[in-house]
Amino acid sequence: MNIRAIIQKIKKSFNPHEELSNEAVLGFLHVLESVQEEGCSCDEVFTKIDEYVEREVDKKDAEDLMPLVREHLDLCPDCCEEYEALLDVLEKTSKDQK
Ligand SMILES: [Zn+2]
Repeated sequence: MNIRAIIQKIKKSFNPHEELSNEAVLGFLHVLESVQEEGCSCDEVFTKIDEYVEREVDKKDAEDLMPLVREHLDLCPDCCEEYEALLDVLEKTSKDQK
């Protein structure tokens, strides 16, 4: 979900010819809620990233199990950096064990 799509969604929830009513404000809040539900926050991703990387290295099914984390990693350079660092460490340790 990018910013442009969010703005489109918000615009669609308003009737531009009317004054902002309570209903419109509620609709706006609803849109914001649904946007938040669709993606992960950085905090959420940080709590799941260990598990994600372990699955990625171990069974290669991380993307299927946690698509929202994958989506967030694609969008967020900070979390992606963390993910790549962890992946690097895990791949090295799993090679050492073999
Ligand atoms: Zn992030």
